[in-house]
Amino acid sequence: MTRLITTIAEMRDIRASLTGRVGLVPTMGSLHDGHLTLMRRAREQSDVLIVSDFVNPLQFGPNEDYDRYPRDLDGDLAKVDGLADYLFAPSAEEMYPAEEPFQVDVGRIGTVFEGAMRPGHFNGVATVVLKLFTIIRPDIAVFGQKDAQQLAVIRRLVRDFNVPVDIIPAPISREGSGLARSSRNAYLDEDGRWHALALSGLLKDLSGRRMPAPELLHALEQARATSSTDVQWDYAEAVDPATFEPIDSSFTGDAVVIVAARVQGVRLLDNAEITVGT
Ligand code: AMP
Repeated sequence: MTRLITTIAEMRDIRASLTGRVGLVPTMGSLHDGHLTLMRRAREQSDVLIVSDFVNPLQFGPNEDYDRYPRDLDGDLAKVDGLADYLFAPSAEEMYPAEEPFQVDVGRIGTVFEGAMRPGHFNGVATVVLKLFTIIRPDIAVFGQKDAQQLAVIRRLVRDFNVPVDIIPAPISREGSGLARSSRNAYLDEDGRWHALALSGLLKDLSGRRMPAPELLHALEQARATSSTDVQWDYAEAVDPATFEPIDSSFTGDAVVIVAARVQGVRLLDNAEITVGT
């Protein structure tokens, strides 16, 4: 049976009593099979698994979907049963009792791509993850490659604040159609889910390939030019996976192609690794 914990004090007490390697999978709940993949990965490398389930207000902009973000604590508890030992689901007041909490400033990486579309988003992500790390003190924490820029931010956070936790990436979990699993897919109707395949469709052609930079940049330019009312691209770019700086036509090495688009008003993200070179 997974035990539900809602206060920081209780979480700390339990953590203090744990022995062996402690794994953490941070989530915003509304759990799907992608989250379960992360938990299985964490289980392989830990003795005790804690999943956090917290819709973090700091990472939502004023006009974003914080209030309507899907929440289903009972469903989440049922899904993690047998996989997680503890589900840590504090309230927003428990996590942020102060009106204007201090926040981590992640700098430049927080201002490009997702950071440019969602100002302050990555400061909010880094803040809540740092809090989870200090409350839970995990030995390992698993994050999905689905949110590639978030993963890069967390790696920097751990490095720059000397947090003693191993960050483990988990591959993107997809539906049979190729659509990357996301809690936000719940907002799409059947038509929207079909149009959403534009993201994974573009990446499928590039994923795992080796391609010269000019050819890759040209393919992405063409893809962006197809923006329509059904699929509005926010970006489709190739970047350095650690810095999220765009590659130029002389780049060689490992890159990640990141795409974001709006379909039926829902922001969808996807990405794929690619080797750039002749
Ligand atoms: P979220 O609940 O959306 O904040 O996601 C919590 C964690 O699950 C993050 O590390 C995400 O990158 C990861 N995640 C979400 N969707 C997927 C997916 N389709 N494949 C792999 N990881 C995912």
